[in-house]
Amino acid sequence: MNENANERKLQEQCIEMAAILGLDEPVPERTLRTALADPNYAHNLLVVRNETEYLTYLLDHPPPVAEKEGSDIPAATLVKRAARSLLKWAGTGFSTVSNETYERRINACNVCPNLRVPSSNQNALYSIAGAMNNKSVCGKCGCVVKVKARRGTDTCPDLHPFKTDLNRWEEQYLTE
Ligand code: SF4
Repeated sequence: MNENANERKLQEQCIEMAAILGLDEPVPERTLRTALADPNYAHNLLVVRNETEYLTYLLDHPPPVAEKEGSDIPAATLVKRAARSLLKWAGTGFSTVSNETYERRINACNVCPNLRVPSSNQNALYSIAGAMNNKSVCGKCGCVVKVKARRGTDTCPDLHPFKTDLNRWEEQYLTE
């Protein structure tokens, strides 16, 4: 594949990634490269794709280490990885919950005694505007509850105060 074809493919992947994230404009090439080099970053983008504030923050602040790794990847390799990675994303698209479930979960978090103000030296995600000085982090697991409650694979780690075998999200309580 020549350089122009690779460039076109890369642009197509930027458009495809934007579509997955619900964006009208292609994502910057830098974002695509970073997401491909850092699965955690890719996963976080997917999880917060319906949360404009978080998504904008993550798009504007790709992890610097991953970006450095990604910048050395040849375009042809990147395109192959992109295809694989995008397929994987499509497969995990079901890992986010419905708005109804999200509302039930986040309402429980908002009145939970475990909710904490994040400490300043924790995950960069905490530095999202408005998250730093508010009670926004689960004291049981350290997750930003707005993001955690959206993940289909996540569970509340605390027992419901009076409903047997349920957690505070009123879902089955699972021990590790
Ligand atoms: S996830 Fe559960 S324990 Fe953590 S803040 Fe939310 S309701 Fe509380």
